[in-house]
Amino acid sequence: MLDCAIIGGGPAGLTAGLYTTRGGLDKVTMFEKGMPGGQITSSSEIENYPGVTGEISGMDLMMPWPEQCQKFGLKHEMVEVTRVSKEGNIFKIHKGDGTVDEAHSVIIGTGSRPRRAGFTGEEQYFGRGVSTCATCDGFFYKGKDVAVIGGGDTAMEEALYLAKICKKVYIVHRRDSFRSAPNTVERVKRTANIELVLNSIPEEVYGDAMGVTGIKVKNSEGVIRDIDILGVFTFVGNDINNQVLIQEDGTFLCAMNDRGEVIVDISMRTSVAGLFATGDMRIAAPKQVVSAAGDGAVAALQAIAYVDELLSH
Ligand code: FAD
Ligand code: NAP
Repeated sequence: MLDCAIIGGGPAGLTAGLYTTRGGLDKVTMFEKGMPGGQITSSSEIENYPGVTGEISGMDLMMPWPEQCQKFGLKHEMVEVTRVSKEGNIFKIHKGDGTVDEAHSVIIGTGSRPRRAGFTGEEQYFGRGVSTCATCDGFFYKGKDVAVIGGGDTAMEEALYLAKICKKVYIVHRRDSFRSAPNTVERVKRTANIELVLNSIPEEVYGDAMGVTGIKVKNSEGVIRDIDILGVFTFVGNDINNQVLIQEDGTFLCAMNDRGEVIVDISMRTSVAGLFATGDMRIAAPKQVVSAAGDGAVAALQAIAYVDELLSH
């Protein structure tokens, strides 16, 4: 019986591992289906992790985290968790290899994944001009021209953010009306260095060995336009990795919002006692490494208190 099972080994899960073990829980296992580190390991450069100055890749940033946790006793199992369920006070961790572990508490941090828009060159240039994170990568295009794909709140808000950094921002949207809140759309329309490219879909992003140099967009009349840009930011929605919370009857283990995010309170507690949710998968997540790590620490402290209380009875 584990004191705590941690699902996901990104910044949230690894920090939860550090704080639970260092905080006194003896039996803690982190279940991670791939290499620990999370989605940030796919980023070539991080500039906004406090205290880490100079150029560092996501891979290098995350490299020491597992070792630091293991020093305090965190066990790591490389396996995909297929489902987390609860019977009485006991959580069951159902694993891809068919076995089941038991735990007094669970901290889940399985992250999210930005949807791909599906144009030619999107995968080829991902991380070399194509990005899904303006907070992360916008600064690399300071004074340059970029394109934003999408017409939702994220696309509009991120375009406004980019417009403060970049010379010009083209918003390529497939319709002429927006999902985004009307006041946000008004702010976009009032921003001098944003150009709306409406009724248009991205056909292809192209470039050279250095990265992206342009985008080909096609409008509803079939007219193709080439736009010179160095960066393309796609904001076409997000999928939360919440599958492990789906029960045999198709319901979720805990309360979720209609976007598939886990509803938590300020202590990362879900609607189920002993189950904590952290990082990109929780409501109102800033979707940053530093905030995911912060969530992991908060959840760990709560899990320690929960297990202490549970075992004292
Ligand atoms: P994740 O990092 O997504 O980790 C979740 C982990 O859970 C993954 O390792 C996954 O393999 C594992 N997992 C999922 N499902 C299962 C399962 N069923 N069983 C077992 N394991 C599972 N943030 C910044 O602060 N600065 C940046 O510059 C920055 N740049 C970015 C660049 C890119 C290209 C991307 C994609 C993101 C960037 N981010 C950046 C955002 C940052 O990576 C995320 O906010 C952060 O990683 C979220 O951490 P997390 O622990 O919640 O989830
Ligand atoms: P979203 O609302 O689903 O919008 C996605 C946008 O991408 C839509 O405009 C969609 O076009 C477009 N799109 C989807 N697939 C595409 C493709 N393959 N090619 C080109 N365009 C494509 O996603 P989101 O903006 O990330 O927002 C998600 C949720 O979070 C929403 O509920 C949103 O309100 C909320 N949110 C709120 C705030 C806030 O309140 N401040 C901030 C951010 C997000 P169509 O419009 O034609 O479908």
